[in-house]
Amino acid sequence: MKAEKYEVGQETEMLCSDCDRDTQHEVLSVTKLGKITKASCTGCGTESTFVRGVKTAVSGGRKTSAAPYDRNRKYRKGQAMIHDTFGRGEVTAVYESQKIDVLFGDTTRKLIHSQQ
Ligand SMILES: [Zn+2]
Repeated sequence: MKAEKYEVGQETEMLCSDCDRDTQHEVLSVTKLGKITKASCTGCGTESTFVRGVKTAVSGGRKTSAAPYDRNRKYRKGQAMIHDTFGRGEVTAVYESQKIDVLFGDTTRKLIHSQQ
């Protein structure tokens, strides 16, 4: 598999946590190797920051319609939520045994989900 190289100003499709689907994103900054470090959704303006291809922060966005965190709900990677204590977050990883990593601002926290 060939590693993709990106340039600032280029558009690419990726999952937007606000739109909750794959949308066009404008590349805002890249590393010397052409890896995306920052991109914004052209649909809602949410900015995502990446380190070595892993999303490390998310900010902005016009929509504030993310649903409140619900431990009974089953989450998938990229979904957004509003947490009572931590505020707006985005699911960055889903594990077995009903655990998820959620990114709040620039802090990742472990939460439970899919509790029936
Ligand atoms: Zn969006």
